[in-house]
Amino acid sequence: MQGSSSISSSSVDAPTPRCHCGVRSPIRTAWKCDYTGRKFYGCSRYGTSMRCSFFQWYDPEPLACYSDVIHKLLETNEGIRSENMELKKGRHELLDELCHFQQCVHETTSELEAAVAASMTMEDNMRASVAMTRRRGVVIIALMSVIVLLVFFPIKVAS
Ligand SMILES: [Zn+2]
Repeated sequence: MQGSSSISSSSVDAPTPRCHCGVRSPIRTAWKCDYTGRKFYGCSRYGTSMRCSFFQWYDPEPLACYSDVIHKLLETNEGIRSENMELKKGRHELLDELCHFQQCVHETTSELEAAVAASMTMEDNMRASVAMTRRRGVVIIALMSVIVLLVFFPIKVAS
């Protein structure tokens, strides 16, 4: 049994066999072989280079239908796992887009603020210009009035 396995506790009172190392064998569960989910006794040094080749099934031979069910469940699990990966990838892309969008909003806000400031400056300039034009208009009207008065009512210079 070279596949991946995990240790599980046992509540069965059967005598625990010892592996070739002379140590009581823990019960493990097969995951990556044709007997997925089936428990077995393996070497206590499993996972190290010191392990021996001891192997003994703990569970009886499973019915074929159970194996089918387990295989289907594993396939479903694999499907869910790859779907989850896709979802994570999609989420990552959406977050990137959101980040980009926020940056665009920030830039647009800055541009709008600059445009508003420029507009306000322009309005102030226009007001100043209008005030200046009015003052000039008043001066011109006054000058024209003086000219008209001088034309129609010339001052008689004493001779
Ligand atoms: Zn051993």
